[in-house]
Amino acid sequence: MPREKGRQGYDAIVLGAGGAGLMCAAVAGQRGRRVLLVDHADSPGKKILISGGGRCNFTNIGAGPDNYLSANPHFATSALKRYTPADFLALVERHDIAWHEKKLGQLFCDGSARQIVAMLMDECDKGGVTLRLASPVRSVDHSDGLFRVGLGDEEAEAPALVIATGGPSIPKLGATGFAYDLARRFALKVVEPRPALVPLTLGGEETLFRTLSGVAAEVIARCGPAAFREAALFTHKGLSGPAILQVSSYWRRGEDVAIDFLPSAGDGALLAAKRARPRARFGGLLASLLPARLAETLAERIGLDGDLGNIPDRRLAEAERALRDWRFAPNGSEGFSKAEVTAGGIATAGLSSRTMESASVPGLFAIGEAVDVTGWLGGYNFQWAWASGWAAAQAL
Ligand SMILES: Cc1cc2nc3c(=O)[nH]c(=O)nc-3n(C[C@H](O)[C@H](O)[C@H](O)COP(=O)(O)OP(=O)(O)OC[C@H]3O[C@@H](n4cnc5c(N)ncnc54)[C@H](O)[C@@H]3O)c2cc1C
Repeated sequence: MPREKGRQGYDAIVLGAGGAGLMCAAVAGQRGRRVLLVDHADSPGKKILISGGGRCNFTNIGAGPDNYLSANPHFATSALKRYTPADFLALVERHDIAWHEKKLGQLFCDGSARQIVAMLMDECDKGGVTLRLASPVRSVDHSDGLFRVGLGDEEAEAPALVIATGGPSIPKLGATGFAYDLARRFALKVVEPRPALVPLTLGGEETLFRTLSGVAAEVIARCGPAAFREAALFTHKGLSGPAILQVSSYWRRGEDVAIDFLPSAGDGALLAAKRARPRARFGGLLASLLPARLAETLAERIGLDGDLGNIPDRRLAEAERALRDWRFAPNGSEGFSKAEVTAGGIATAGLSSRTMESASVPGLFAIGEAVDVTGWLGGYNFQWAWASGWAAAQAL
């Protein structure tokens, strides 16, 4: 049937040329589908470019469902199993991109995150994907089994529409809540979005810790079921660093974050030090275990001073308990403007875990960060973007 002027027909329209959308479009294109990939930004993959300090922590070799938060913790299993970190790494190697493992299974480019965007663009080219950048979506309609997307003076239509527009974290990069608006229009449920992997702020009494701004220490940070042993950093607003970003995804207003400042010291370390060096000073002992400024502040707050030999065992045991379970009561977070990801999003309950397709609106898919699946810090979020994009592409 001849098409109206300005109306283009495709097999699938993918909204959002971030990691998930690029992967989905490339794979579907290479499976022979005519794919239109649309973004309102003037260049694709902006978050990829700034990720991992410009080197893109593109996956984590240990990525599995336990590294993700979701109202349905099992939802990510199928996609993560079918498109694994090894699969993405094989793609990276096919493109001769040099990489290294930094720590904890985190894989980074040796060179630049630009190589990952170039790789995905090349894969889209191989799939004959039509790319429309700087194209705000004017309208989305659905009737007679076709999705019609208005872009400027063009209208594109396809039997499949993929929502890959991410979450609202870092709006200055073009991030929006568009995915949720669109999902709601199709009566899909949205789990309340909240900033995640985000610095936490301290108020009240705890503002005093802001004077430690710039001090970092290895700690175990705990919140709810989560515990992460990594660096914590004091900032002029509160707490940051990998350990804090990790627990921030689990933190809810009103909850405490517990910090173990002595992750490397054995149980009873303070009492043992008293026995071994009774003339050593309490402040000096803490300074041997922690950065000096932090040690000084904590010693002051604990209210102990003087020679270890003069401090009753009971007080030292209490001090150790406090240092291993120091409670901070954050009064908030630095919000979406500083959050690396958005937790919550399009509810998985309405999506197929195998294909990411909506159960109630056939042909409508949601992938990547737009969905209520949120990874830990360390390459897990990109692995979800690749895996969910790949899964949807198999069904397009
Ligand atoms: C500073 C920073 C560093 C990070 N580092 C890492 C890392 O090293 N490793 C890791 O795994 N994860 C990292 N992340 C998280 C990771 O970037 C995201 O989880 C991932 O990019 C999500 O991919 P996505 O394709 O779902 O969404 P996005 O990458 O956000 O892509 C969505 C796309 O949709 C477009 N869009 C939005 N609204 C509209 C609209 N209305 N119309 C048209 N287009 C629209 C956007 O322009 C964007 O191109 C980092 C995040 C940040 C902010």
